Amino acid sequence: MPPGNLATRDSGKLDVAIIGAGAIGLAIAYSLRTMDGNCRIAVIEKDPSYALASTPRASGGVRRLFTLPENIELSNHSIPVYEKFHELMAVNADVADIGFKKGGYLFIVPPMGVATLARNFERQRRHGVNVEWLAPDKLKERFPSMHVADLGAAVQSHDDGWLDPYAVLMGFRRKVKSLGVELIDDAVMGIEREGRLVRSLTLKSGRKLKPAPDRSFRCKCSSMGSPRCNTALDGGPDVVERLSACLKSLDLEKALQVELAVVAPPSNTERRGNQTFLHVIPHRASGDVSQIGQVLNGVPHVDSHAT
Ligand SMILES: Cc1cc2nc3c(=O)[nH]c(=O)nc-3n(C[C@H](O)[C@H](O)[C@H](O)COP(=O)(O)OP(=O)(O)OC[C@H]3O[C@@H](n4cnc5c(N)ncnc54)[C@H](O)[C@@H]3O)c2cc1C
Repeated sequence: MPPGNLATRDSGKLDVAIIGAGAIGLAIAYSLRTMDGNCRIAVIEKDPSYALASTPRASGGVRRLFTLPENIELSNHSIPVYEKFHELMAVNADVADIGFKKGGYLFIVPPMGVATLARNFERQRRHGVNVEWLAPDKLKERFPSMHVADLGAAVQSHDDGWLDPYAVLMGFRRKVKSLGVELIDDAVMGIEREGRLVRSLTLKSGRKLKPAPDRSFRCKCSSMGSPRCNTALDGGPDVVERLSACLKSLDLEKALQVELAVVAPPSNTERRGNQTFLHVIPHRASGDVSQIGQVLNGVPHVDSHAT
C-alpha cells in the first residue's frame, strides 16, 4: 500500500498512536512513516492552536554544544535534518522554509569555568563537532565589541544555528499528513492496558483507538545456510524449530532489545524450490516488526518482506 492511502483503508486500528502533535510527536510520526510506509499511525493533539505547547515558544537554537555524549549525538543527527528540512518536508513542489541560519553558537565562561569548558570542548571534538577554542585575546580579535578582561575562555561551534520553531511544527504537520498519518484533534483521556500491552486509548470525544492485529514478516532463509545461520532450511517437520534457533543465533533479541518469542506454526510455512518461507511474528508485547525487518535485511542469506 503506497503512502497516503491510510485514510481510505483505515479500519480504526493502528500500529502506533502518538499523544501530542508537538515537534517531538510529529518528528516521531515522520520517522516511523518513512521507515515503514505501511505503518498505520495517528497523532492525537488536544489543542491544535498550540496555545500552551512548548514548541512554538522555543527560541529556535539548535546546537551541539552539550556536555552529555547522548545530547551531542542527538544534535549530530538532527541538525543535518534541519539543514535540509525545506526539501525533506516539501509537499509536492512546496518547500518548508524554516529560516535555518547556520550562525554558530558561542559559549563564554569566567576563569573559574575554564576547566569545565575544556572538558566539554574535548568531548565535543571526540564526537566530531566543529568547535574552536577561543582564548580571551582571540575572542577580542573576533568580536571587537566584547569586553574580555574578566572572561576565561570561549568555545565557538560553527555549524550550529537557529530556526523558526513554529515553521518546523507546521512543516512536520503538513508533511506527515501528506504521508497518510492521521492527525486527530482530540485529547487522550485514558489508556487501557493489559500488563505491558496497550489495549486502547479513550479520547475526550468518546472515540476509542485500538491496536491493529500483529503484522507478520515473511522471512526467507537460504537453504545454503550462512556463517551466522548454518541451519539448512530445506523444509521438514522441524523447520519452525530450526528457523527459531537460526533467528536466536542472529542475536536479534539483543540487537533489538526485544523479546522475539513467537514463530508461526508450520501451517504458515511455504515451500518454493529449495527455499522455505515462513511467517515470523515478534512477541506481541515487545516486537516492532519494522525494526526486525531492517535487521533481517542486513543479515547475509536472510531477508524479509512485510506482508
Ligand atoms: C521558552 C522556551 C524556549 C526554548 N528554547 C529552545 C531552544 O532554543 N532550542 C531547543 O532545542 N529547545 C528549546 N526549548 C525546548 C523545546 O521547545 C521543547 O523541548 C520541545 O518543543 C518539546 O516538544 P514536544 O513535542 O515534546 O512538546 P510540545 O510542543 O509541548 O507538544 C506536546 C503536545 O502534546 C499535547 N498534549 C499533551 N497532553 C495531551 C493529551 N492527553 N492528549 C492529546 N494531546 C496532548 C499538547 O497540547 C502539546 O501540543 C524551549 C522551550 C521553551 C518553553
